[in-house]
Amino acid sequence: MDPVVIASNNPHKVQEFTLIDPDLPFVGPELLGLVKEESFKETGTSFFENAFGKARHTAELMYRKTGRWIPVLADDSGICVPALGGAPGLYSARYGSELENPPENDQQRTSLLVERMKGIVDRRGYYICSLVCYLGPDHFWSSQEIWEGIVAEMPSDGQTGFGYDPIMRIPPDLISVADMKEDEKAVQSHRAKAYFVLQPSLRKLYTEGASNR
Ligand code: IMP
Repeated sequence: MDPVVIASNNPHKVQEFTLIDPDLPFVGPELLGLVKEESFKETGTSFFENAFGKARHTAELMYRKTGRWIPVLADDSGICVPALGGAPGLYSARYGSELENPPENDQQRTSLLVERMKGIVDRRGYYICSLVCYLGPDHFWSSQEIWEGIVAEMPSDGQTGFGYDPIMRIPPDLISVADMKEDEKAVQSHRAKAYFVLQPSLRKLYTEGASNR
């Protein structure tokens, strides 16, 4: 059975998809000999464009290496804050890159968002995940979901997840995502919600034999 390749260099994402659906054989691109330099440049103007571009680009690279279309799942995700006009949004992974001393890691980007939200009363924020499963030319599935929360005034020191999780608090208890258990985040998150839309099709593909195509 062919694996489902997750087109991401972020090990957290591969781990999250494996927790969301332990029955499917997810692997990161490096296991198939793809290297970081071959990654898609995220120049799209929407989450969907980037997710589609990553999925197709990786599937095409693998087609060149193996002569087969192996299913590739790619997400583009981020955090959006309506009170900041939707920022960090598409630029979540490089938030603050316009600054003279730009943040260098997730923790510094999170601190920058906390700083920019000082004094703002409307604390609503949401994670977004655009997900594409590319199966071959002209054949793909896609979904896009959000996971709503409240942006905290101070980061939690919980260790679950990555990125903005220490400042994202989820109703009704307003527990931060970083304080959730990994398997709790895995089934509730924006990525999980987007994956669950595609799950029946992916499972059907695998029970019917992905490697026959
Ligand atoms: P991507 O890898 O281009 O999709 O960038 C996603 C960026 O959005 C990450 O670097 C994080 O900053 C943020 N992000 C996306 N999903 C999550 C999540 O589940 N938790 C925390 N931050 C996230």
